[in-house]
Amino acid sequence: MKSNEKRRVAVVGGGIGGMASAALMAKDGFDVTVLERNDQAGGRARVWKKDGFTFDMGPSWYLMPEVFDRYFALFGEKREDWYSLKRLDPSYRLLYGPGDSRDVHSDPASVTALFESLEPGSGVKLQKYLANSGYKYDIAMKEFLYREYRSIFDFLNKRMIREGLKLKVLGNLDAEVSRLFKDRRTRQILEYAMVFLGTAPKDAPGLYSIMSHVDLSQGVYYPLGGLVAVADALRRLAESRGVRFQLSSEVEAIEVANGKARGVTARRLNADGYTLGERFAVEADIVIANADYAHVETQLLAPEYRSLKKRYWESRVVAPTLFVVYLGLSKTLPSLAHHNLYFQEDWNGHFDTIFKRPAWPQDPCFYLSCISKTDPDMAPPGCENVFLLVPVAAGLKDDDATREAYADMAIRHAEKVSGERIREHIVVKRIYSQRDFSRDYNAWKGTSLGISHTLGQSAVFRPSMRSKKVENLFYAGQYTHPGIGVPMVLIAAELAAGIAARS
Ligand SMILES: Cc1cc2nc3c(=O)[nH]c(=O)nc-3n(C[C@H](O)[C@H](O)[C@H](O)COP(=O)(O)OP(=O)(O)OC[C@H]3O[C@@H](n4cnc5c(N)ncnc54)[C@H](O)[C@@H]3O)c2cc1C
Repeated sequence: MKSNEKRRVAVVGGGIGGMASAALMAKDGFDVTVLERNDQAGGRARVWKKDGFTFDMGPSWYLMPEVFDRYFALFGEKREDWYSLKRLDPSYRLLYGPGDSRDVHSDPASVTALFESLEPGSGVKLQKYLANSGYKYDIAMKEFLYREYRSIFDFLNKRMIREGLKLKVLGNLDAEVSRLFKDRRTRQILEYAMVFLGTAPKDAPGLYSIMSHVDLSQGVYYPLGGLVAVADALRRLAESRGVRFQLSSEVEAIEVANGKARGVTARRLNADGYTLGERFAVEADIVIANADYAHVETQLLAPEYRSLKKRYWESRVVAPTLFVVYLGLSKTLPSLAHHNLYFQEDWNGHFDTIFKRPAWPQDPCFYLSCISKTDPDMAPPGCENVFLLVPVAAGLKDDDATREAYADMAIRHAEKVSGERIREHIVVKRIYSQRDFSRDYNAWKGTSLGISHTLGQSAVFRPSMRSKKVENLFYAGQYTHPGIGVPMVLIAAELAAGIAARS
């Protein structure tokens, strides 16, 4: 390379993590190409449009707004110049059966009143719990999240030891919540967000009580146009800094010689999105892998360059996959809010069908969103855009008959719990589950979220951002620290791009 030439970066995967790290590398003067196998960038945060309905295919909760603002500020940009946010009120609705629901608002007085109504005497305890969770959140933002861990000693720094022990960050979330709160409904409000982290509450470290600060104190937001507005903004930002996108381009191999990546070879995908077209190569001085980590290590690298082999992946606690049904309805659902949650009484029973005895859950917990309540453009007039999600174990039988039957059961169940009639008003329907995650994203075992945030798979114990075998190969995405979720992946992108740029 001549000294006046820019160093070249190939990014494998155009998800949030790939686009966000690509934009940062381009800002820092690198010549960046993103290769993405789908015909849209965004990864799990893609969009599907049909007959006037616009569905966010993946994420729909916009949490931790400061993380997004900080990311745009790295470019001297203001997030609000790229997309608009609306704070949801209520943040979400809890469904307990027809005519029985509670709204969760993100102001301390109303959350306290809600807790008191569910469990007399719990309001004061909640205030203390939230104060503690807010304090932990501040420490996490300053000391824990925006940090690469290369060894256990990076993790156990002085402040972490001092504050961490006091705040029980390594303790067990469920044990702490159950000690303080006795009604299953109050406990569920404080624990449900563990599903966002791909973990059963029983197995989640105490640190993740920060999620209660995130949803009950900071609030839940919605970007107008859907979460895909964030993906679009990242793509536009990246392109404005010179990043080139090669869509419909499946990377087949990361080419390595003498322990150094030289670039990638890829195949164009034909219009059907799956059959392979012409082969081409992209040379690079640095490779950033955003595609599922297990796929990159076990499929794209030659055996001698794999840091984490198949047996490592086989031994991980895999996060759930998400059984999603996108529904366009010819009427609105008046008794539902933008975000709605149903938690079954046997809370652990559902989690056991994911982590202990894999099976399709009966009477499942579910999440149902109607983004058209906030954003009427997401559905034709008088219609509702419905996203129904059930977390299930990765690796279940997912053939046409099984998934159709399960979708039917899940819709009937949602009707029963909400008291709304849904089935006879369906005009658009699509099921998206593990086989789609495998096929569209090369997802390990069809998981939607990667690996769980158990204690043994958090922070220093998540797969490293640096390959141990290939000196100029780095990883950015939900498998690395800090982990699952759009804000976490933005943090990972900032860390990975920083490490790669300094390499
Ligand atoms: C249904 C669902 C709901 C969710 N809800 C929320 C939520 O409400 N809020 C929240 O914050 N998070 C949510 N999440 C999690 C969040 O979406 C993810 O953590 C995040 O989007 C992951 O981003 P990523 O960049 O790590 O990975 P990905 O989005 O998977 O990006 C990786 C990209 O690599 C591409 N790729 C794979 N293999 C290759 C290859 N060989 N060649 C080229 N490209 C390749 C894939 O196509 C993909 O585009 C949800 C996820 C799902 C699936």
